[in-house]
Amino acid sequence: PETKLPNVGTTIFSVMSQLAAEHRAINLSQGFPDFDGPQLIRDRVVHYMQSGANQYAPFIGVPSLRQAIKDKVARHYGADVDAESEVTVTSGASEAIYAAITATVRQGDEVIVFDPCYDCYEPAVELNGGVCRHVALDLPEFKINWLALEQAISPRTRMIIVNAPHNPSGVSLSRDELDRLAELIRDTNILLLGDEVYEHIVFDGQSHNSLLTHKELARRSFVISSFGKTYHITGWKVGYCIAPVALSTELRKVHQYITFCTPTPMQLAIADYMNTHPEYESELSGFYQEKRDIFCHEIRRSRFGFTPAKGGYFQLADYSQISDMDDVSFARWLTTEAGVAAIPVSVFCEQPKPDARLIRFCFAKNEETLKHAGERLCRL
Ligand code: PMP
Ligand code: GLN
Repeated sequence: PETKLPNVGTTIFSVMSQLAAEHRAINLSQGFPDFDGPQLIRDRVVHYMQSGANQYAPFIGVPSLRQAIKDKVARHYGADVDAESEVTVTSGASEAIYAAITATVRQGDEVIVFDPCYDCYEPAVELNGGVCRHVALDLPEFKINWLALEQAISPRTRMIIVNAPHNPSGVSLSRDELDRLAELIRDTNILLLGDEVYEHIVFDGQSHNSLLTHKELARRSFVISSFGKTYHITGWKVGYCIAPVALSTELRKVHQYITFCTPTPMQLAIADYMNTHPEYESELSGFYQEKRDIFCHEIRRSRFGFTPAKGGYFQLADYSQISDMDDVSFARWLTTEAGVAAIPVSVFCEQPKPDARLIRFCFAKNEETLKHAGERLCRL
């Protein structure tokens, strides 16, 4: 039978994690911490499960969590959003991304994405009859190529997806870049989807310029984040989308038929934790910067070339001094033969460059894991 996603297989994250498990490799491929989230947040889930909060939540999210999200974006971005009509809790950022795309992209619409680009956008666009236009970021800085972006915009452009801090590079957008984007799309109806799941992980004293900090852009944006990244609870799958009323209304129409709602005890626990630990988000960058520094220190004696990540929890590394293999083969070899699993970066690109020699390591790991991996990588 004709399939709807003929070019889609199992995601690289599952493939590499499984290969890592089979070969008992240190898994720095799929992005998830090898440590738990705060004790208190886990205690609160148990509390709510034991005290009867086990039925459906309101489909838009429990009020205390929507309020906590509202407070958080006021604190960090000076944004004033309405918790009732503009904040929707979803089952991870993934669901919010799927719902935002499904609610807005129509047959024949074009959606602009920047390569390397996270893997869940394009299948969602295609399932809705749209087409992705891939604009390559300028390497090695992973910056937007404005000329290429301008040329990619057409009368059919429905949406531009902006992932900042960027997976896999960790690069954020500057204020000037937000202004430039605003100027470029000012007289169009183009929507924005801001995938900001790494919003609280930016290094070296930089700050993350959320689309919510830019009033003009915020008026046409779905801004999406994930508690999985912020609280080290990727398995809970709780995220959210902030968008103006008209966009939130459309998103909710779709969200109510994908999952209807997100698990109740998790939402209540996250809200409690956010309310009692408002300082937590601001401490996260320091926490991950230390891990980045440990990992970079470990591999500085290796033959991998790298520039320390500027955000997120991934370190890119160039292996051209080690091997001529293409990145998919090298990542497999590294997993099966060297005992460290990583993600090949070309799978995030529409047109892999045959000479690209970049892989991605996740450093959201305990010091011991990072040191152990570093030792293995230095032997190559
Ligand atoms: N966007 C990006 C850029 C990601 O790296 C991830 C996940 N890890 C997601 C979205 C999905 O987040 P969630 O697990 O909350 O669905
Ligand atoms: N976002 C995670 C990563 O980039 C993977 C999440 C997933 O496995 N879908 O590694």
